[in-house]
Amino acid sequence: MTEARRRRIEEVLRRRQPDLTVLLENVHKPHNLSAILRTCDAVGILEAHAVNPTGGVPTFNETSGGSHKWVYLRVHPSIQEAISFLKEKGFRVYATALREDALDFREVDYTQPTAILLGAEKWGVSEETLALSHGAIKIPMLGMVQSLNVSVAAAVILFEAQRQRLKAGLYEHPRLDPELYQRVLEDWLRK
Ligand code: SAM
Repeated sequence: MTEARRRRIEEVLRRRQPDLTVLLENVHKPHNLSAILRTCDAVGILEAHAVNPTGGVPTFNETSGGSHKWVYLRVHPSIQEAISFLKEKGFRVYATALREDALDFREVDYTQPTAILLGAEKWGVSEETLALSHGAIKIPMLGMVQSLNVSVAAAVILFEAQRQRLKAGLYEHPRLDPELYQRVLEDWLRK
């Protein structure tokens, strides 16, 4: 490992945001999962969460650009357990949903611990899951088509979160506690 590579790894790790994440409810297409993880890396997400309909380990493809090496993916047995896990850690869970009563996604304060819940390509977030979340958010759609591709929706919302966090100075100092920082650093240096 060169000194430059180590420096780069540390720079990126110092910008990781342990209190911003996504939760994917049955997003099963490898190119969508891969594109979302690539966005997570760009925005500084340390760990993403998923519930996989097949019960197996989700699969990635080249769309990830290798980002799945740098963004941990925690797979939960059910959406209920995933949401409880996040709530216990103090996250507010916002479900993306194309509903009349959903908030415009720009109205959320993403500097607070936030999880963005994204739904399956065909069905979206289920009603039961929506009821477990802290609220519904949507990206206004002004065209003919009803919804965006799930990875595009993830990017639009996560870059708003990045914008708010940049403004709040949250990328300026390491956000991981020293023990976790050291653990992740050792893992990343082995990659
Ligand atoms: N028929 C589905 C529905 O009504 O939710 C469409 C699902 S959409 C193709 C897949 C996922 O992308 C959604 O569950 C949501 O997570 C996200 N999504 C797509 N367009 C969105 C929008 N305009 N606002 C918020 N989320 C959106």
